[in-house]
Amino acid sequence: MTVTKNETTILKNFINGQWVESSGTETLEVPNPATGEVLARVPISTKEDVDRAVQAAKKAFETWKNTPVPKRARIMFTFHHLLNEHHEELAKLVVQENGKAYKEAHGEIQRGIECVEFAAGAPTLMMGESLSGIAEGIDSEMFRYPLGVVAGITPFNFPMMVPLWMFPLAIACGNTFVLKPSERTPILANKLAELFTQAGAPEGVLNIVHGAHDVVNALIDHEDIRAISFVGSQPVAKYVYERAAAQGKRVQALSGAKNHHIVMPDADIETAVQHVISSAFGSAGQRCMACSAVVVVGDNEQFVKLLKQKADELIIGNGMDPEVLLTPVIRQSHREKVLGYIQKGIEEGAVLIRDGRKEMDEMPEGNFLGPTIFDHVTPDMTIAKEEIFAPVLSLLRAKDLDEALEYIRKSRYGNGATIYTKDAKAVRKFREEADAGMLGINVGVPATMAFFPFSGWKDSFYGDLHVNGKDGVNFYTRKKMITSRFDF
Ligand code: NAD
Repeated sequence: MTVTKNETTILKNFINGQWVESSGTETLEVPNPATGEVLARVPISTKEDVDRAVQAAKKAFETWKNTPVPKRARIMFTFHHLLNEHHEELAKLVVQENGKAYKEAHGEIQRGIECVEFAAGAPTLMMGESLSGIAEGIDSEMFRYPLGVVAGITPFNFPMMVPLWMFPLAIACGNTFVLKPSERTPILANKLAELFTQAGAPEGVLNIVHGAHDVVNALIDHEDIRAISFVGSQPVAKYVYERAAAQGKRVQALSGAKNHHIVMPDADIETAVQHVISSAFGSAGQRCMACSAVVVVGDNEQFVKLLKQKADELIIGNGMDPEVLLTPVIRQSHREKVLGYIQKGIEEGAVLIRDGRKEMDEMPEGNFLGPTIFDHVTPDMTIAKEEIFAPVLSLLRAKDLDEALEYIRKSRYGNGATIYTKDAKAVRKFREEADAGMLGINVGVPATMAFFPFSGWKDSFYGDLHVNGKDGVNFYTRKKMITSRFDF
């Protein structure tokens, strides 16, 4: 809901080391998804706010690019220390604004901290290459340099981890940064800026501009922005990629997903069910690596029965309660959209074996939806093809591994896929043939760590260099080749 400014805290932008009011006149509520309590209001900033932030970052770049790499890395060590010190406070903020369970929020803080650890390795990561004697008396060297001002646009579902996929590495590589956090979870980003400044980051090196699509467009179109890192839904990822690439910018745009988990007949059923439950319903299914489709190979009624039983036993509630696994979805409007998908699933002939709508009435305060499971879903059904991003799981049936792999191939998305089996031959076939970028073997959420690329395929990613790992370093640096001869 759009509201005009009133007495509730209106978040400020962070520009040139100062907290400044947005020049926009509109604000949006930031409600706690579990209680509806309005935590803050986020300003809808303007093109002028973006320009101010970019000018600050541009000025800061002149000094920052010449700051020795080990000195830049040392700020990451201090930042790392501060993040660890504030671990609990950060996790609570994530629970409040995103709604996920405290344990998951804790895990998210840890994943974010690991990105800072990785960025602290900048002196090694930024090393170039050299070869003496490429021809008689001639040597070649490659040095890495930062790009300039770069921008990050982030989604609601990982308010800590996703910004930390971006700005620590970009900044350690010598760039300066403008972050546009999700307008649905903007609060934690300001805390990150506070801690980063406390860690010794000079003014203008990290800037934050809150807002929505106007801020995104202004960042993409700004002539002084060299690269855009984006994470969000598929239509927006494609739009950002195309619009920024058309202007000659470097872009990495991480997008939506539909992750298939194959349950082979020999799988350990208890383990498979436990992983599917936690992957599909943890964070209310709002993870780009969540299991949203299970392919049951063979006639495995025992798996389906146990899955339904464990879904029935799930504790639903506020993420601050340590017993809770299933938390609310981000907004009422999102839940409305999800209800539309459930209706569509029924109309298209899928069998609703667990209806999570019944829990909605029991918990009127927050945006809750109970675990929902459809069986006998076919690959052409809407619920099998589209990302629902909620605790709604589709079970597809396949006669063998070939057919299961065919379902994955048919999907437009290719973020992740998992197989549950003890059979080495099936594992190898899955590894070689599964058409997705991050695979799990008996692992429910095969998300990669900071030192590896987060490597979605197909419509789950637009660009070529992924976030994190060496890809991230290559994305945020450009190379200069020196060829020298001194044989005169
Ligand atoms: P979203 O696309 O709604 O928003 C992402 C960002 O884009 C936000 O900052 C938002 O302000 C901006 N935005 C939204 N609409 C826009 C428009 N029309 N023009 C310009 N900018 C716009 O995504 P979300 O709902 O916040 O996040 C969930 C999505 O992100 C899911 O699809 C999920 O799969 C995806 N995601 C992907 C990954 C990955 O690694 N592939 C990781 C996390 C989330």
